[in-house]
Amino acid sequence: MLDTVDPRQWDFEEGYSPVVVLQRGGSAQAAVGVRPGVVRLELPGDHAVHFDVAGRIINVQREGVSYRRTLDNRLLASRRVEGRGWSRQPTPDDPLAFLASEHAHARSVLESADRTGTIRVIAGRVGDPVRWLHAHLDRAAAFDREALGRDGRALRRLYLPIPILPPDQYASLVVQVSEGCAWNRCRFCTFYRSIPYRERSVEEIVDHLDAVLEHLQGTVERLHRVFLGQANALLVDNEILLPALRAITERLSLLPADLHGRAKERFQAEHPRWIDGVYSFIDAFHRSKTVDEYRQLAQAGVRRVYLGLESGSRRVLEVLGKPPTVDEAVALVHHLREAGIATGVIVLVGAGGRSLAREHLEETVAVLERMELGRRDQLYLSRLVIQEGGDYEERARRDGIEALDRGGQDQQIEAFRTRVGAGRRASFPIAPYDITLSRSIVPLDRR
Ligand code: SF4
Repeated sequence: MLDTVDPRQWDFEEGYSPVVVLQRGGSAQAAVGVRPGVVRLELPGDHAVHFDVAGRIINVQREGVSYRRTLDNRLLASRRVEGRGWSRQPTPDDPLAFLASEHAHARSVLESADRTGTIRVIAGRVGDPVRWLHAHLDRAAAFDREALGRDGRALRRLYLPIPILPPDQYASLVVQVSEGCAWNRCRFCTFYRSIPYRERSVEEIVDHLDAVLEHLQGTVERLHRVFLGQANALLVDNEILLPALRAITERLSLLPADLHGRAKERFQAEHPRWIDGVYSFIDAFHRSKTVDEYRQLAQAGVRRVYLGLESGSRRVLEVLGKPPTVDEAVALVHHLREAGIATGVIVLVGAGGRSLAREHLEETVAVLERMELGRRDQLYLSRLVIQEGGDYEERARRDGIEALDRGGQDQQIEAFRTRVGAGRRASFPIAPYDITLSRSIVPLDRR
């Protein structure tokens, strides 16, 4: 039955059309709306589930908490706190059971629609609402616990671990062009300890890319960035990187950097699998490419790279187990800029503990000044997380370095924010980088 009801009967989130409301006994049971790439199922109370075109959950909103699903079916939970952004929340003990129960809502909505026929359209045009609901919810309803487990396992077979991503890359499609970390000796980092460093061949990269794209059909349309992994992937020779980038942009449409406004929207509408660029970590202590080589990468789609500077102090770097290549890091940022690639510089808050705190702050600020970061660059402040019994803790104990506690780190963050670009407002964004948040594969939504 097709009917029109007062839109105020269901105050649906803006931007979705059409919106179909399911009613039983005069009261609304659920509403379903669509916008490009997203199906939103709203249930009574403060409860909504978002699915992508493949029927996979993007996120669930329940009683003020937003649960983001990672591609391998783990969860990140956060709640908006007035004036303080988002705060982390505990996640369900059994994420698969949680996700399966949220997928089950799609199934019960369909069963209810098949039984009652009391469906009303409050926005947009829908020919046959029951068929319409099936067209948009069948895939989501098919994901029971077993199907979710299969999906996660299949994805894990396609990837080596993705233990960390920059905060603005959580919703990127990861393409692994190398394995492990070519340095792998920083005392504070164990992400790739057990993985021998290896650069993949072009054929391996293209096979991996095709397998990932095949698996993520219907999901990849929401991932508008490509991040090259594993660790400092830009070390890989251009002879491999350039054909790999070509393969990526033959399969995903690279948004021209100079498109803006209407022209940009038109491009995105005409190319559902658009990406705004390719991104990667980089380091300053292996052979640097020439400006021309970086320029080739920029022309092939590389937009920004992330450089773990950690500290401008050579003494602090020595404690961290990182090569003291401060001058090389400054030169690298300038070379990248000349080639048209922006840099996200990561500084480790609390590195060197209390004893080296002043030197860490002063010398890091000085190095950042020398880098002359601009509008397209970013500065990330990442708290040092000391692993119990780890190499950093052992070295700090040996050197009598007392860790900077949370309060001390807060003060250091404040000092960095005040000092960087002192006397003038920093023209580049300064953002937190929480490594404990990103220990999971690619959450599907950008926040
Ligand atoms: S911090 Fe970066 S360079 Fe150092 S070991 Fe970890 S991944 Fe490698």
